[in-house]
Amino acid sequence: MDAVFFDLDETILDRRSSLVDFVTWQASTMLRSEITDVEQFVRKFLALDANGRVWKDVVYQSLIDAFSISEWSCKELLANYELRFNEFCKPKVGAIEAIQALKKKGHKIGLISNGKSPFQERNFTALGIADLFNTVIISEAVGYRKPDREIFNLACNSIDVLPINSIMVGDNPEADIIGANLAGLYTIYVPSHYGQACEQANACCKQLKDLADLVDAASNKNHP
Ligand SMILES: [Mg+2]
Repeated sequence: MDAVFFDLDETILDRRSSLVDFVTWQASTMLRSEITDVEQFVRKFLALDANGRVWKDVVYQSLIDAFSISEWSCKELLANYELRFNEFCKPKVGAIEAIQALKKKGHKIGLISNGKSPFQERNFTALGIADLFNTVIISEAVGYRKPDREIFNLACNSIDVLPINSIMVGDNPEADIIGANLAGLYTIYVPSHYGQACEQANACCKQLKDLADLVDAASNKNHP
């Protein structure tokens, strides 16, 4: 396999725990005079966020209403999130080691993420491994979103590899797995809140420390 592409949120970025840390910080600094129960605020934020499916302008407006926040506007809270969330971003356990190992074995490495630009680039860069990546594709910047096969083609073209010689690693069955399958990539599913298994994926990676072996296995299947 020539290239291994990764999704960002909940594949290499531990989004949920990063978000808990950010929201806890925001509630206890910016909002300290308005929020007395920080844990309750964090729980409400996570519920409204729905694992990232709801954009934060909607989340913050609901929080302003629910907690009667008067000192800050939705726009100000959102701007704070967009600029400062990256400071709380941490990788999933084993992600950095797995990517370093793949890089050492000679695979090109790429990122394919659905999300806002430059918000997602900032979050990705904060993980400190950007120099290991040959390409970074963010949906808003390129005009295609996973599962559209065009975003996978574009990612492959950007580093001169073929989809059939590439792997997509991700946690979203539809966007990452079904989308990449349609584009002709080999797919490895990372279990998350979407579920422990994904029958459409070519392989499942329960722990990122096993990823290099799964990539080797995929390479052997392709080139017996
Ligand atoms: Mg994801």
